[in-house]
Amino acid sequence: MSLERWYPDMLPLFEQYPKLQDVLPHAPLGEFPTPVQRLPRLGGEIGLNQLFVKRDDLSGRIYGGNKVRKLEFLLGRARRDQAREVLTFGAAGSNHALATALYAKELGLGCLALLMHQPNAKYVRKNLLLHLYADTNLQLCRNAAAVGRRTALQLMWRRLKTGKFPMVIPFGGTTPTAAVGFVNAAFELKRQVDAGDLPEPARVYVALGSMGTAAGLLLGFKAAGLKTKLMAVRVVPDRFANPKLFRQLLQNTNDVLRQADPSFPQVDPETDDYEIVHDFFGPNYAIFTPESVRAVDRAAATEGLSLEGTYTGKTLAALTDHAGRGDLAEQPVLFWNTYNSRQISHLIGGLDYHRLPKGLRLYFEAALQPLDDRPDR
Ligand SMILES: *Cc1c(COP(=O)(O)O)cnc(C)c1O
Repeated sequence: MSLERWYPDMLPLFEQYPKLQDVLPHAPLGEFPTPVQRLPRLGGEIGLNQLFVKRDDLSGRIYGGNKVRKLEFLLGRARRDQAREVLTFGAAGSNHALATALYAKELGLGCLALLMHQPNAKYVRKNLLLHLYADTNLQLCRNAAAVGRRTALQLMWRRLKTGKFPMVIPFGGTTPTAAVGFVNAAFELKRQVDAGDLPEPARVYVALGSMGTAAGLLLGFKAAGLKTKLMAVRVVPDRFANPKLFRQLLQNTNDVLRQADPSFPQVDPETDDYEIVHDFFGPNYAIFTPESVRAVDRAAATEGLSLEGTYTGKTLAALTDHAGRGDLAEQPVLFWNTYNSRQISHLIGGLDYHRLPKGLRLYFEAALQPLDDRPDR
């Protein structure tokens, strides 16, 4: 690890394009750069001699994972606009809704989260309890139409109560402005390559959900001059994540950057700069697959990495499958860990799920999905 003092004083992206700072308000919430580490034991088992991990699971002191980089720009804007509250959405166990609530609290902002049902899992229970710690204003909505109605209602209601509309943050925290956090992450990775922390990756494997992480990274790879191929492993239905929406988000993010600083390059990815991998999604969002569970277990057993079955397990399952084809054996491959690994159990110890809204207590009373119903590791 290089310990130069280029962070947190100045984001690598801002250092390259200083004009961006004036237009893109940024709240320093996380701890960067996140480390890059070699995974010799996992690599050995799956046939990769140069496997690395980008530890975005350590991106925050209280709660890590990929949402912190987005929130630095989202909440930076909320603060500039003097918002008092943010309103966001997600599945019941949404890591995004939780990260938003936790970091909003850090900045003294309130958080409303409109949640929808999802398959039950242990991480859903943990995340819901942490919402009690974060004082999130939680509301359960039956379907997408109900989310729309409730949003309109709550915007008016909160305006009446507080004198201001809450700032609305979409599903997954993905907007073009938020994706700038991952353009910066690519510049951060370029620094680590230049410093000799790892060779230039031939491929990066990352989960594809609301797509802000992957689109920002690919835009950043191109702009920073990395020849890395982005492998985006789809973990949501393809009406939410597909090539057309992906390119649109990437272009909109590029537009935000070029409007803020015209010297930022226009990027137009070629078809072999990236691939959307569809085959590891399984039956639906947040339903663990046997391959994802096996990948989670293997990462824990070989390297002590703490992954989960909805995003990172499916991503590592894709990487493992591709490694089995043999042609990557000597190539540098980087697994981008997007899941939080900060210990949170001490925060939820005394919390009682009965304080949750009625519909959300169900997750503590109903059975776990079969593939998650195993003793805790
Ligand atoms: C939200 C999330 C993702 C997906 O990131 P997007 O930017 O929404 O594509 C991946 N992994 C984990 C653990 C997440 O919580």
